[in-house]
Amino acid sequence: MVSVKAIDVVKNELPVDEESVVLSGDVRTGLVLVDIVNGFCTVGAGNLAPRAPDKQISRMVDESTKLARLFCEKEWPVFAFLDSHHPDTPEPPYPPHCITGTDESNLVPALQWLENESNVTLRRKDCIDGFLGSVEKDGSNVFVDWVKKHKIEVLLVVGICTDVCVLDFTCSALSARNRGFLTPLKDVIVYSRACATFDLPLNVAKNIPGALAHPQELMHHVGLYMAKSRGAKVVSEVSFASSKK
Ligand SMILES: [Zn+2]
Repeated sequence: MVSVKAIDVVKNELPVDEESVVLSGDVRTGLVLVDIVNGFCTVGAGNLAPRAPDKQISRMVDESTKLARLFCEKEWPVFAFLDSHHPDTPEPPYPPHCITGTDESNLVPALQWLENESNVTLRRKDCIDGFLGSVEKDGSNVFVDWVKKHKIEVLLVVGICTDVCVLDFTCSALSARNRGFLTPLKDVIVYSRACATFDLPLNVAKNIPGALAHPQELMHHVGLYMAKSRGAKVVSEVSFASSKK
């Protein structure tokens, strides 16, 4: 287990000032859900699923579900990535996970209703970075097309893992925005309470050949720090203006 002191030192040396954001119908906002699938979130569902109930992951699922419901009520655009791999295509350094056609690669029970919502775009991806995972064989990009079609100005990114798939996607989206590929996108916002990462404490990792320690709270913080350092906004509160749609 990482000592409280280590986390405090990192938080002191690499502080992440979190803001709050008020969303309104005046600024077109899209919600991006990253990999909220059983294989990463449901206890015992697979090699990369939590082995026991996990508070950070449960909070992420609850907060993401609340947000998704609000976006759907308002008919605002939602884009959901689902990690899905062909059984013959491994994804090193990770063990087999989220194999296409298994329940691991499906949305968690709390979010399965998204499959029937007309404002939701589901994208199965077979790589860590959802931006790359959105590239089609003809070179088009499903995510880029979604941003342009809906004229999205603000992206709100949530999901798992804060320092892996959420971070990589956020960084790619920021680079693509900076290169002018995502016009009219202005801001990429990571909502910290609706993000989570996995827990592999040092004392467990050192008994697994080749495994890197990955203490949950510390790496969640590092993921948020890295996202902010690349130009994302990190918020700890999301609310909605009580205006029009
Ligand atoms: Zn994967």
